[in-house]
Amino acid sequence: MKTRRQFLQNSLLGAMVAGSGDLWAKTAGFFERPEKGALPVVIATWDNREATAAAWQILSNGGRALDAVEAGARIPEADPDDTSVGYGGFPDRDGHVTLDACIMDEFGNAGSVGFLEHIMHPISVARRVMEKTPHVMLAGEGALQFALSEGFQKENMLTETARKAWEEWKVKSEYKPVINIERHDTIGIVAMDARQRIAGACTTSGMAFKMRGRIGDSPIIGAGMFADNEVGAAAATGLGELVLKTLGSFLIVEEMRRGKHPQKAAEEVIRRLARKYPKDAADNQIGYVVLDKRGRHGAYSLHPGFNYAIFQRDENIVKEAGSLFLK
Ligand code: ASP
Repeated sequence: MKTRRQFLQNSLLGAMVAGSGDLWAKTAGFFERPEKGALPVVIATWDNREATAAAWQILSNGGRALDAVEAGARIPEADPDDTSVGYGGFPDRDGHVTLDACIMDEFGNAGSVGFLEHIMHPISVARRVMEKTPHVMLAGEGALQFALSEGFQKENMLTETARKAWEEWKVKSEYKPVINIERHDTIGIVAMDARQRIAGACTTSGMAFKMRGRIGDSPIIGAGMFADNEVGAAAATGLGELVLKTLGSFLIVEEMRRGKHPQKAAEEVIRRLARKYPKDAADNQIGYVVLDKRGRHGAYSLHPGFNYAIFQRDENIVKEAGSLFLK
């Protein structure tokens, strides 16, 4: 038999769950009113203006942030000239292109794929994992099987340029994953739509010539990307191992939850990882893009050279991020 106390607790919980949409809308609107003209907004790592434009197409027509970040991420995935994402990405040391991606929606749902081969749009597979399975992450062969069962086509992801780069690399076979020297363009993309819904995505072919089986930060929720509709979102690029060890995107969102501006939150997390891993931080690049519930943004990196694309107030621009270490 239920005690009166249990009954009260249950009915209170029921009322909270049933009314949570309203409650959320009221409190979010009250505490986190967007800055004037700040919505919608999308921000992506590196000069991914084509990606932010694709996202804007959706956002400016009243679309959902989730659709926008997926559409944005698909642009570099299909671009053969982008050697760090999807088709055309540099392979692992055995010559296989292996892909990592993750996505989150405004409800906190998440989906990801790691070590996925032969699929042009890992971000869309990640979305299907989120929407069609009881799981968050699928990897390797299982992820491929799932993608094929969802109607994705098996394709060759290794372009001639990437194959040549790999052949050249094999001459010395030097395994020195120094991110600052190689060109790294992992796309992390976060957005808020006109209805103040926040979503994020991240997709990459990972570190060039990595060990077979290596999975980086990009498909790991909280590392390569994290989105919390109450607070904001962040996404990373750079040495995945370092982002993984510090769960950087999650940490940035938590710093914002405690009241920090997106810029200050990114700076705090970059400083923190440099304090904890000084040698890795000195030799490698990490950059974050950040967005908060009010439509304010921030970006920061370890070393100079990290830029980002932001589409807001009808303007699609590239900005240079500040960095902890100076030239
Ligand atoms: N974060 C990616 C990884 O470690 C690499 C990159 O940003 O280029 O897989």
